[in-house]
Amino acid sequence: TYFSDLGLAEPLVRALEAKGYTDPTPIQKQAIPALLEGRDLLGIAQTGTGKTAAFALPSLHRLAADPKGRMPASCRMLVLSPTRELAAQIAENMRGYAKFLNLSVQCVFGGLPVGKQARALVGGTDILVATPGRLLDLIDQRALTLRNVEIFVLDEADQMMDLGFIVPLKRVAAMLPKERQSLFFSATMPKAIADLGRQFINNPVRVEV
Ligand code: AMP
Repeated sequence: TYFSDLGLAEPLVRALEAKGYTDPTPIQKQAIPALLEGRDLLGIAQTGTGKTAAFALPSLHRLAADPKGRMPASCRMLVLSPTRELAAQIAENMRGYAKFLNLSVQCVFGGLPVGKQARALVGGTDILVATPGRLLDLIDQRALTLRNVEIFVLDEADQMMDLGFIVPLKRVAAMLPKERQSLFFSATMPKAIADLGRQFINNPVRVEV
């Protein structure tokens, strides 16, 4: 199987070639076709499996297939990550995959001045990668609305829970449009995480690697 066989648009295949990736990893083979169809996903996978590309590539494909002008203080795709390091890494990877597409990627997390991040969001962005606390700060400051989110990704749900992000996550979930695609990833899936997942995802494809 090649990436082009999975149904990804040519600019994405070209970006993968530029990176030297030829073969999709197991999670990419399983997740990409279902995500391209718009299905929700429950992914049980660790970092290092190619999980980021598994959610990034079909999402970029779908956003590019339905171009929309950027809306002020908005994003079309929201990726929540438990740590700033992981958020920055996801954003950097997504910029690489999006390099031949006209889609913008921004990243916000705590520890940097919130005013600068708020100003960067004035014109909106296609993709926003965020940690939960800073995301809520920006929403509370009216620098961001989640009203236009089409794709929602919750990464490392078990770490989110360990770091005490359950209450912020539930606040975020309450602000998301009902009509959306949702992806939920965790390295482990104990009952508490599965119960949390059910609050975000609807009739998901389950992928375990
Ligand atoms: P992740 O699990 O998303 O943290 O990805 C682990 C590493 O594998 C990252 O450095 C990716 O850039 C890289 N990677 C992802 N997909 C592929 C692939 N299909 N072939 C080779 N490397 C990949």
